[in-house]
Amino acid sequence: MKLPSLNIQILLGAILGIVLGLSFQRLGLESAGVKTGLYLSGLVGTLFIDLLKMILIPLVFCSITVGIANLRQHQQMQRVWQTTLIYFVLTMMLAIALALFSANFFKPGSGLHIAMFQDAMQNFEAKQLPLPEFFAQFLHGLFVNPFSALAQGNVIAVVVFALILGVALVMGGERYTTTLQVLQEVLDITMRIVGWVMQLAPLGIMALLIKLVAAQDVAMLATLAKFVAVVIGTLLVHGVVVLPLVLYIITKKTPLWFWRGAREALITAFATSSSAATLPITMRNATQHLHVKPEIAGFVLPLGATINMDGTALYEAVAALFIANLVGIELSFVQQLIVFVTAMIAAMGAPGIPSAGMVTMVMVLQSVGLPAEAIAILLPIDRLLDTLRTTVNVEGDMVGSLVVQKLVNQSQ
Ligand code: ASP
Repeated sequence: MKLPSLNIQILLGAILGIVLGLSFQRLGLESAGVKTGLYLSGLVGTLFIDLLKMILIPLVFCSITVGIANLRQHQQMQRVWQTTLIYFVLTMMLAIALALFSANFFKPGSGLHIAMFQDAMQNFEAKQLPLPEFFAQFLHGLFVNPFSALAQGNVIAVVVFALILGVALVMGGERYTTTLQVLQEVLDITMRIVGWVMQLAPLGIMALLIKLVAAQDVAMLATLAKFVAVVIGTLLVHGVVVLPLVLYIITKKTPLWFWRGAREALITAFATSSSAATLPITMRNATQHLHVKPEIAGFVLPLGATINMDGTALYEAVAALFIANLVGIELSFVQQLIVFVTAMIAAMGAPGIPSAGMVTMVMVLQSVGLPAEAIAILLPIDRLLDTLRTTVNVEGDMVGSLVVQKLVNQSQ
């Protein structure tokens, strides 16, 4: 019997995972059968993420270094990084503007009161994270001994070192061709291993979704239904309308074409809630299905997975206004501008791992004097919303690689 294509298998795995997760919840998490099922899905899901993380660091390191070194051949380096950064900033601004618009329009949280959540907040102590300190911490984390960064899986520090190494290779020119060739080969080998890991994606994704769906706190979800609906609706507008429109206007590629090429990565992002863990698959889809040149993908995607987060930025802005409504404070225009800026910084500073946006959220709340403890209210539903915001984060990176490629080619 011939198996359906990997794409279809992944889609089926995701659907089956959600259905099984819901049935587990119906059956009650205490029954022996469900417990075994959850144990097994926990094991398989974690192993799948372990495999992705195993390959992540060598991949990020080689792809950025080789990407930069190869860009030199086309005299495009400057143009690529400038276009990339402008794209990242502009699309995140669009996402936050959309978030503020819909939060002001729908006013999630206006019928609720913070007193209802006293229990949740009682046992919760928010870590103080004022903006200047956050910024200092962020900068401090950029430059790390590369060996320790590689060994600890510190993605942002590996990205920074790889950027520097890439530039050094370019400067050295012909002298370092052997090093470049070795790195190129290691990159090819890692991509081959990614191909193998992909074969396990349907199973891994199913397992992750079973666990996630089964663990949802339904009562809490019902209380916060309006907030959840506003976040999901706004994320969908950004992911299904805004980003595809940007893609179409600049590259003339249709959303359907994009979805076909990107769906493995998007579904993986949904299931893992981690842009970083998804990166190997994002790279594979972009280069093999969306025809992004490896040197562009190698630069834009790893950088995007660490700093370009449209979904997270959008979420942080909606959540800040939601909490303000809960507390009964109407944020002024200037305060909303502060939310705009801090949401962007918080999203850029959030590493691409599950619930990272939740941690940096504290900073956004504090910037306008909202109680940081209030994020305790959001925690029970965070993993659920993280699925979709991570998908939008990864979509933004992939659209970015296509947009940058197009704009850079045009200018040649
Ligand atoms: N999980 C998100 C990501 O990896 C970050 C976040 O918003 O928590 O892209």
